[in-house]
Amino acid sequence: MTDSKIQYKTPNYCPTCNSIVETGVIFTYTYNVTYTDELQNEGTAIILSKCLNCERPILTEEQFQNIEEHSWSNDKIQLYPISDNVALKNAPAIVINPYKEAIKCYRAQAYDACVIMCRKGIEAICVDKGEAKGNLAEKLKKLNDNKILEDTFYSWANELRLIGNDGAHSHVQIVTQQDAKDSIDFFDALTTYLYHLVDQYDKLKKRRTTI
Ligand SMILES: [Zn+2]
Repeated sequence: MTDSKIQYKTPNYCPTCNSIVETGVIFTYTYNVTYTDELQNEGTAIILSKCLNCERPILTEEQFQNIEEHSWSNDKIQLYPISDNVALKNAPAIVINPYKEAIKCYRAQAYDACVIMCRKGIEAICVDKGEAKGNLAEKLKKLNDNKILEDTFYSWANELRLIGNDGAHSHVQIVTQQDAKDSIDFFDALTTYLYHLVDQYDKLKKRRTTI
């Protein structure tokens, strides 16, 4: 067992609690520290903390700057739990934007808005894959017919469409936090499949046939 005493408390986003919570900093590792003079320095800090609400660990990286007794930090990146989608860098902007918006809405606990954004993302995928005509249900069906969306992915996308409809139009059907979380997870899986794995598989096949 190592020491996990809390050094100080600071507010942070906890993905498990899905809210800004009080976190306790357990350990800070700094590197790339440069001194502009003896009272000023800047560098990178890796900070291990724990959520004081659910006790889960959180690892962040931030750029800090100290001038005399004042300190700032910016460019905070969450390293753990990982919440970024690797497929995103290969997806077109029309798909990335609603995805990022959906994440923002989820973190703001705006679950209706979150599922509507996921639905918008699905619509963007259809447009990107060449299906711009008709309503969303028809576009998805066409993607399924021409084998861009296999049956399982087609049913997921269709479910996102229906949840998105509830978020947009229903006053009876309440969108819960779990619905919003599931929508993001399925949207995640769809983009990973369409913009990452399919691409990776094509490259693998190409590499293997040229050997
Ligand atoms: Zn928590």
